[in-house]
Amino acid sequence: MAEPHDEMTPFEAVTFFFHEAADAADVDDATREILSGTYREVRVQVPLRRDNGEKHVFYGYRVQHNGARGPYKGGVRYDLSADLDETRALASLMTWKTALVDLPFGGAKGGVQVDPRSLSSPELERLTRRYMSQVSYIVGAHRDIMAPDMGTNAQTMAWMMDAWGQKAGHDPAIVTGKPIALGGSVGREAATGRGAIMVLDEAVRDAGRERGDLTIAVQGFGNVGSWAARIAVEDGYRVVAVSDIGGGIYVGSGLDLEAVDRHVEEAGTVAGCPGTEPLDSGELLSLDVDVLIPAALGGVITKSNVDDIRADVIVEAANHPVTPAADHVLRDRGVEVIPDVLANAGGVTVSYFEWTQNIQQFHWDADRVNAELRKRLRRGYRTLLDFADSAGCDLRRAAFGVAVDRVAEAARLRGYL
Ligand code: NAD
Repeated sequence: MAEPHDEMTPFEAVTFFFHEAADAADVDDATREILSGTYREVRVQVPLRRDNGEKHVFYGYRVQHNGARGPYKGGVRYDLSADLDETRALASLMTWKTALVDLPFGGAKGGVQVDPRSLSSPELERLTRRYMSQVSYIVGAHRDIMAPDMGTNAQTMAWMMDAWGQKAGHDPAIVTGKPIALGGSVGREAATGRGAIMVLDEAVRDAGRERGDLTIAVQGFGNVGSWAARIAVEDGYRVVAVSDIGGGIYVGSGLDLEAVDRHVEEAGTVAGCPGTEPLDSGELLSLDVDVLIPAALGGVITKSNVDDIRADVIVEAANHPVTPAADHVLRDRGVEVIPDVLANAGGVTVSYFEWTQNIQQFHWDADRVNAELRKRLRRGYRTLLDFADSAGCDLRRAAFGVAVDRVAEAARLRGYL
């Protein structure tokens, strides 16, 4: 296979990891074609009348990558980077993620290419309802279930559920990540960040290290990054730096996250939080910390900055934060990279619990949600380690190896070919 490089698009990068696993698993050509492509891609126009009367047309996507193991599942992103290629990459990662943690789902992703901060709340509501309406003919509680991702949240899911209900009848299982008052699951909001720390806990225990000795830097302070930071502090780690699109902050003895939350509430960014030193997002990545948690955008650790990375563990809470070219450098240097398909699988796992609760019309309590989450992620981590041990490979190649085997087997059993 050709050497990876930083000019790869997000979908080329994810597909590169797939091909590495497919080569090792000896997947036949037709199966390889199915799994390296996408099943269905929809691009929709999402017209919006702004509050001031101006008319604007946005573009939205829904990509269904593979449904061999169950209904398509994946979030919806509102971001300027949410184009077709990025959506394909994220849909493909969902297929491998749901397979690795053994959820009965396939992989999908959606997005609207928009900066959500440039819209008012009523504009976001109209945009969301229109997007849901435009893709409604390919989604469904047993066909394709959406969830929050960057730029979307529980409120977005509430609007989506309502828009679907007006068309097809009320069904809370149509989306996950809803507000609890509308059938959301306790623990869903924190689940992706919590899952990232649960997986880190496994690695720390295996390495015989103590949480209290470990420093952490987190890039991104949205849903995933802020919960990962909070739970890490609760668990005894020392979170010394966090950042968001407005900038970063550092305190060597550990950040007071309650003070950071209060500052974000007022200022809308972590930057400038009193009692902290300023950082830019690039500096955060190269801090001398034990654990680095990228929890914002994809493609932030590249061949050009990988040599600056000083952490010896990277927990990929964001999707595809490390390019394949940088990944090879980290692997050769022996940096332990816990890959996105496991590190951020906590979100889709609790989404699965939410979907199950909606179908059963039953509620689980927080203890049950978190205990089941830990069990699933621990099993995923152990499966991955066993594969890595027997194949003599690193965790990323093991993760893709396990997932590709499972999806290829499901495709074969269903008689795709
Ligand atoms: P979010 O919109 O809630 O937060 C994104 C954060 O990233 C914000 O703090 C934003 O300011 C920050 N950010 C954006 N650009 C930045 C930059 N250049 N430098 C530093 N920070 C920057 O999104 P989220 O839901 O927390 O998602 C974050 C990542 O986690 C994404 O890669 C997403 O695909 C992935 N993910 C999310 C979930 C979920 O359940 N929400 C599940 C799995 C994976």
